[in-house]
Amino acid sequence: AATSIKQLLAGSIATGNTVRVQGWVRSRRDSKGGFSFMAIHDGSSFDAIQAVIPAELDNYQDEILQAGAGCSVKITGELVASQGKGQAFEIQAQSVDVVGWVDDPESYPIAKKRHSFEYLRTVAHLRPRTNTFGAITRVRTVLANAIHNYFFEREFQWINTPLITASDCEGAGELFRVSTLDLTHLPRTENDAIDFAQDFFGEESFLTVSGQLNVESYCMALSKVYTFGPTFRAENSNTSRHLAEFWMVEPEIAFADLNDDADLAEDFLSYLFNTVLEKCEDDLAFFNQFVDKTCLERLQTVADKNFVRMDYTEAVSILEKTKKTFEYPVKWGIDLQSEHERFLCEEHVGAPVVVMNYPKDIKAFYMRMNDDEKTVAAMDVLAPGIGEIIGGSQREERLDILNARMAEQGIGDELWWYKDLRRYGTVPHAGFGLGFERLISYVTGMENIRDVIPFPRTPGNAPF
Ligand code: ATP
Ligand code: MG
Ligand code: MG
Ligand code: MG
Repeated sequence: AATSIKQLLAGSIATGNTVRVQGWVRSRRDSKGGFSFMAIHDGSSFDAIQAVIPAELDNYQDEILQAGAGCSVKITGELVASQGKGQAFEIQAQSVDVVGWVDDPESYPIAKKRHSFEYLRTVAHLRPRTNTFGAITRVRTVLANAIHNYFFEREFQWINTPLITASDCEGAGELFRVSTLDLTHLPRTENDAIDFAQDFFGEESFLTVSGQLNVESYCMALSKVYTFGPTFRAENSNTSRHLAEFWMVEPEIAFADLNDDADLAEDFLSYLFNTVLEKCEDDLAFFNQFVDKTCLERLQTVADKNFVRMDYTEAVSILEKTKKTFEYPVKWGIDLQSEHERFLCEEHVGAPVVVMNYPKDIKAFYMRMNDDEKTVAAMDVLAPGIGEIIGGSQREERLDILNARMAEQGIGDELWWYKDLRRYGTVPHAGFGLGFERLISYVTGMENIRDVIPFPRTPGNAPF
């Protein structure tokens, strides 16, 4: 069987052994001395392995000298210590099979050495072949596994919450409707009463915007739970931090308040950043050199748990006092905009900030009312370069207050089951949502969230 290039470069096979690699040509260079060098990558590692190909091979003239970047190959040869600097090992090729050719190399869409991220989005099916997207994919994989490991090690249960739901948890009206109704033949007049409640599920149904309400029900029996899956929001603006389809991690803990929630968020982020620092060294070195020179420094800040906590009220007074002018004016009661969030963590503090206790009127119905009756026990974690990466809260566990909040926001009986959770053995509990792609942007320094998910979905754009 073939060995992964990562294993070979790590020295897990002794020199002198015959090895086989299979992958794609990153580059080929022909020397005058009668051999060629091919750099081969297979996705397992940032670095390619070099194969030295002697001109004596049967297919040297006809095939090797025609095989360029993007061709797929299988190579058998002896693993030897490399003479050149850079890598410790290379392969002295004994046979090279070209498995797949690149049709018309001149028009290969990613033939050039460098491409803009914007261009690469138009060839999202080919961009995984670039160094950058290989690195992002490996970081994404390490983070996803670290998320599950963190919770597994701490006795959290993983709850798979439904993707199709009847409730708009966030109340932000960003729902994608799920329907089997064929609307194409209907005359479109204002009088068309289309009754989605008569459709498949017998009530109006949508793609989930958050698994929180469902996860709370499991929390009220299993104490420590989380969901990690895709989430859908019909975000009608084009920003570098919003996708219409993104992944979210949502832990929920029982017998916990907002401070416990903030402790969990900080500990969780620190664990993830430590893991990525340990397991993605080469990929991070690449991001630090080519994408964001402060990448490693920033990762270390979070790994070392350097967070600053402050109340919303304090955050607003900081924003009011600064000489900096904002597009969106600041006063107590506003929802912080990304320019405010970024000022707080980038310019004022220089580290991630946890803002706590937001005005109740800008927050969802399920957040716990504070004694001042003006604020709720909500928190956002703000990250330099991005703004909000986590939104969380202590949940309202008192039925009478929850009822009043729901009435205020026009939420009716559809959430009867959610109220039941407060009727039978209610306890204080708290949780948060971490946007997985915002986390990856934060870790890698990639500026646009469209470039940290394999196939981004944004308004007017879902071609792949
Ligand atoms: P924002 O203010 O940026 O729109 P939000 O307050 O609407 O975010 P929450 O409902 O608090 O978001 O969701 C929890 C987390 O999910 C956010 O902190 C963020 O990391 C992530 N998130 C929310 N919306 C999106 C989106 N459209 N694309 C990617 N991630 C998102
Ligand atoms: Mg939003
Ligand atoms: Mg927000
Ligand atoms: Mg939020």
